[in-house]
Amino acid sequence: MHDKVPYLDLPAQIRPLRKEIDAAIARNLDACSFCLGPDVVQFEKDFAKYCGSEHCVAFNSGTSALHVALLLLNIKQGDEIITTPCTFVATSWAISYANATPVYVDVDDATFNLDPANIEKAITPRTKAIMPVHLYGHPFDIDPILAIAKKHNLPVVEDAAQAHGAKYKGKTVGTFGAMSCFSFYPGKNLGAAGEGGALVTNNAEYAKRARSLREHGSTVRYYHDEIGFNYRMEGIQGAVLGVKLPHLPAWTAGRQRVAKRYAELLKDTPLQLPTQAAWAESVWHLYVVRHPKRDALKKHLEDNGVGCALHYPLPLHLQKCYAHLGYKEGSFPVTEKAASQCLSLPIYPELSDAQIQRVADVIKDFFKKN
Ligand SMILES: *Cc1c(COP(=O)(O)O)cnc(C)c1O
Repeated sequence: MHDKVPYLDLPAQIRPLRKEIDAAIARNLDACSFCLGPDVVQFEKDFAKYCGSEHCVAFNSGTSALHVALLLLNIKQGDEIITTPCTFVATSWAISYANATPVYVDVDDATFNLDPANIEKAITPRTKAIMPVHLYGHPFDIDPILAIAKKHNLPVVEDAAQAHGAKYKGKTVGTFGAMSCFSFYPGKNLGAAGEGGALVTNNAEYAKRARSLREHGSTVRYYHDEIGFNYRMEGIQGAVLGVKLPHLPAWTAGRQRVAKRYAELLKDTPLQLPTQAAWAESVWHLYVVRHPKRDALKKHLEDNGVGCALHYPLPLHLQKCYAHLGYKEGSFPVTEKAASQCLSLPIYPELSDAQIQRVADVIKDFFKKN
């Protein structure tokens, strides 16, 4: 019998840090530091520094941070935001929450990131921003997108929810656009003990207003300058993230080790493997392979105790909730092909060489029979 290889193994990440995490939580319980508080303030400083950015504003989720990012740009009803249909739905939620309209353009076939070549023809007088995603931990091609944005005077909001520490031409993502949003959902590269998110920016005005918007639109208690939200990060989440952040570089190196090993072991299989652009340093949030017989391969892996997942099985332009946008099957062929062929293999720093080998063996076994 072979050991199972779980798709995700969060207990393995928590175990060695358990004492430190317990102490950090206890400190916040003892101080009754529940909503924001000193550990959140410290984490904001540390995460801003990690990103190489001036300001970090902590939120109760990445989705909240993305929503506020669009409010900071004064996005309103009727505005259009150019974005990708090949992502987790929360990227588009932010646009919908701001009463704006997502305008999708297709992605590039190599990285599944927004293809700069498709952006310009989607720009209209109503376009107010571009919101690409650093998908699966691989940066999108930032320079050409910034050039288009500059030409049309449009701000860029980076959805960096999957890309903590990823680098573009040697510089950490999250510092290129007007602002960037991160998620600390437990399964992300840096995860809280619950929900969490952050908005990172070099613009002091944005940071100041973001702090107000996340706290009921107030800077002085019970005085509300604009309609705000309860989007605060909990003290305990700031504390746990503070314990974990120093480990992130080693965890990223661990993910890169796994990706490299998969690439070696799987190179002679019929799978299409993920690539890394010359200018990119991916943080490998996900390791997504492609094959036309994806569904059968997924079943074979699961039958043999190897966890896997689909990111994402149905593109946003074909979701029921966005039917009113009027897209149809065939609107975005690259995205649709990705959805039908993608398969995410286990990738996390704690994955052992034997487990990686096991995943590869099960895949090779599939192609012997198929
Ligand atoms: C996880 C994720 C989000 C949302 O973050 P939450 O913290 O779960 O709200 C947004 N965009 C992308 C691409 C994500 O992967």
